[in-house]
Amino acid sequence: MSISKLAREIAPSPTLALNEEARILREKGEAVVHLGAGEPKNKAPISAILSSAAKLNTGDIKYTPTEGTMGLRKAIIKYTEENYDRVVAPENVLVSAGAKQALYNLLVTLVNPQDEVIVLAPYWVSYPEMIKMVYGIPVIVTPEDGGFYPRMQEIERAVSSYTKAIIVNSPNNPSGVMYPESFIAEIVAFCERKGIYLIMDDIYHKLVFDGKTNISAYKFTNKDTENTRVIVINGISKLYGMTGFRIGWAIAPKAITEVLANVQSQTVSCTSLLLQAAAEGALTGLQSHVDTLRMTLENNRNVMMQELKSFNGVKITKPDGTYYCLPDFRAYSNDSVGLSKFLLKKALVVTVPGKEFGMEGHLRLSYATTIKDVMEGVARIKWALDPTSPNDIYIGERKLIRDWL
Ligand code: PMP
Repeated sequence: MSISKLAREIAPSPTLALNEEARILREKGEAVVHLGAGEPKNKAPISAILSSAAKLNTGDIKYTPTEGTMGLRKAIIKYTEENYDRVVAPENVLVSAGAKQALYNLLVTLVNPQDEVIVLAPYWVSYPEMIKMVYGIPVIVTPEDGGFYPRMQEIERAVSSYTKAIIVNSPNNPSGVMYPESFIAEIVAFCERKGIYLIMDDIYHKLVFDGKTNISAYKFTNKDTENTRVIVINGISKLYGMTGFRIGWAIAPKAITEVLANVQSQTVSCTSLLLQAAAEGALTGLQSHVDTLRMTLENNRNVMMQELKSFNGVKITKPDGTYYCLPDFRAYSNDSVGLSKFLLKKALVVTVPGKEFGMEGHLRLSYATTIKDVMEGVARIKWALDPTSPNDIYIGERKLIRDWL
């Protein structure tokens, strides 16, 4: 078999692989607790379902414009106005199959072979792979203090004449932290000055806790939408828990959206009319759905923090938002892949190794699940690792005895 050099270098998505492993274990009847999930348990908003069902009932489901239906683009424009305080035109919006495809289209559009794109660790697993898929070079900036907040000086040191873009994801998958407003202000100013594109992956931007609010990068630019270097990526997956609907978008200057549309027109043509109708329904319907999800997640985060506190040696940075936290397990192991495998085997808990996010020695734990699973999952991890915890545990009816500590 002859597989291209490029394709051979692309790593599979570890989170999707873990989901599959957990599914197989569950099918075998194992009581797996999934703390690896990147999606919440809630149902799609009724406004989304009705809007999509109404379209389906017409039976008239054809291609849509590559950029997305005017109805959805108008809903995105309204969303952008309300949440970013920025008025954009339909020609600034491109609807794609998830934020993932919006990002990929954008990288195809911006990056020449050997161009560098700066990625801030800890980072979402797909960024470096996507950059490699367009023959670019991911340049990872890891905070020198071992924390989750990059500093501007560290980023500036990584910038070269090949730097095309910087990707910022705040609140951040996997750490859950939201970068301070002063940092966003600095990075916007820096990118505008240097002519580097600032790709804001805002996919979790309204899922922030403790009364905090999302920070819009647009607030810190004095350039208009056609001249700014700020490009925003967003979507319905995380905010509405509509991961399976596969709708995301990019907001960019018209000259860029035009090319994004060309790229998309030669690959998937457009996203499904049914799913665009669902997204339009979600964006124009009652927004209490997002608030309910945010409150559920905040509560789950609090429970997870509480449970993790009783863990000897595990260091936690409290997440400001998202579905995740990224505790430091180096007191137990420096090998996060090994540790994650061990926990799945011994305690039937799915975690995601920090190594995948550029933070070895950490595990990403998702609280986008039930309170019961958050408590059960952390209790099992504690049982598996912490010698001060009781020696046996019940998983359903089954008593497990710890014989490795
Ligand atoms: N960006 C980040 C940071 C994410 O965590 C995800 C999903 N895990 C995406 C983008 C992609 O989202 P979508 O489902 O809209 O493709």
